[in-house]
Amino acid sequence: MTTADLGNRLTDFTREWPGKNEASTRWRTPLLGVADTEDPLLETIRGMMDPSYHTPGDFLPGARRIIAFFIPFDEGIPASNRGGEIASPEWAAAYIDTNRLIGEAAAHLAGFLESSGYRTALLPATGLFDPVRLVSTWSHRHAAYAAGLGTFGRNNMLITEAGCAGRLGTLFTDAPLGVTPRPAIEYCLHKRGIPCRVCLDRCTFGALADTGFDRDRCYERCKANAARYEHLGKADVCGKCVTALPCLCRIP
Ligand code: SF4
Ligand code: SF4
Repeated sequence: MTTADLGNRLTDFTREWPGKNEASTRWRTPLLGVADTEDPLLETIRGMMDPSYHTPGDFLPGARRIIAFFIPFDEGIPASNRGGEIASPEWAAAYIDTNRLIGEAAAHLAGFLESSGYRTALLPATGLFDPVRLVSTWSHRHAAYAAGLGTFGRNNMLITEAGCAGRLGTLFTDAPLGVTPRPAIEYCLHKRGIPCRVCLDRCTFGALADTGFDRDRCYERCKANAARYEHLGKADVCGKCVTALPCLCRIP
């Protein structure tokens, strides 16, 4: 079994999923990467996080690899969320649908690995943070960064080859899968020294600014949308800073 095999399985699973489930959301082709749990970058990341942040071994003792994947939204979904204060119904539904898809896709990949004799551990797509202190106990974005799926944008999103509009998942295994290399360049224009502040301009709530990111303000917006879309499920999202960007669906 190879990393490419897993990527192909994820692609097939994502393509067939809407036809087998009641979901209005559509997705583009997913990306999959693999990081070695011995990679020193993981310790560096942990050092930047709250002490409650986990290691792969907390989820799967003896884990050798982190498998990270990105499922990009169809381009119409972020387009529907442009402007206004409240997230679009399409954006809220995409969050809920994609969380389901991520859970089932991870279980599908885990089943494949386990049928080959390896152990796995799964994580939920969301909720891996302390809702009072607003600190992460695991970050899919940082795991995906370690697995070479992309680099961080000024809006704190991971910019991948398929852009930043989509969602990420992680699972762990003791299978000695091939590790994927990290990008040699920054994908964010600003971080490459090319002036760009489009994502900052999209946040009209004062959460994303030149001075940094205000977690509390952002979470207030997410909670307002969760209340608005309670009938759909839990959609504590906003995503106005992920609309009409040069890095939305591709590397800018
Ligand atoms: S909109 Fe521009 S500054 Fe913001 S993340 Fe994308 S490339 Fe970077
Ligand atoms: S999610 Fe909304 S509130 Fe949070 S930074 Fe983006 S635009 Fe601002």
